[in-house]
Amino acid sequence: MYRDVLRKYRRGNINWSDKALTNLRREIRVSLRAQQNSRCYFCRQFLYQERRNASENIEHFLDKSKPHYAKWSFSPVNLTLACHPCNMQKGSRDVGDAAVRAAISLRANSGSFRWIHPYFDDYHANIEIHPGWVYGVRVGADKPVQAQNLIQDLELHRIQTIVQRRQRLNDLMERTIIVLEKLIVNPNRDMARMSRVAALQRRINDDLRWA
Ligand SMILES: [Zn+2]
Repeated sequence: MYRDVLRKYRRGNINWSDKALTNLRREIRVSLRAQQNSRCYFCRQFLYQERRNASENIEHFLDKSKPHYAKWSFSPVNLTLACHPCNMQKGSRDVGDAAVRAAISLRANSGSFRWIHPYFDDYHANIEIHPGWVYGVRVGADKPVQAQNLIQDLELHRIQTIVQRRQRLNDLMERTIIVLEKLIVNPNRDMARMSRVAALQRRINDDLRWA
């Protein structure tokens, strides 16, 4: 179905954000969202659909802008969903070694990765998250160095990151309260939407309690 458009992408005729790829990107996002229970792969926080970045949070573990990784732009084992802060922090960092860069196919034994890998490693066997979103390398982790690198490089442990996250949750809570108040006074009350907003508030509240 997407063969022609993927061929164009591989030839370099269109880029990742091209309109012709909109549907494919949406499908990828929906399927990753289900796979990851709507949580960012890196920090495991809930991916709230905020208007500003609702369109794009697909993360290429091996950066698609590097010529040697471009061939894996649509490989399922190279795609995850990430929150905006993690995505920004990762930037175009190269997390593969020389062997990965030279590999023909992307597998667990293609080389070494700087971080634990979204598909080849078990996140929770390597990283432990304590209440307050405090990240640590799990005792007995099989990839302690890679787990530590991920925490450090993405600055998951920085106090500033923690404060910003809490602020974002607070802002989001305030906005949903306003939405809910408007819905309540509306004579044509949309009960389904109201219960969705209420469920969202419950989730934000749970996250805030933990933050
Ligand atoms: Zn994140």
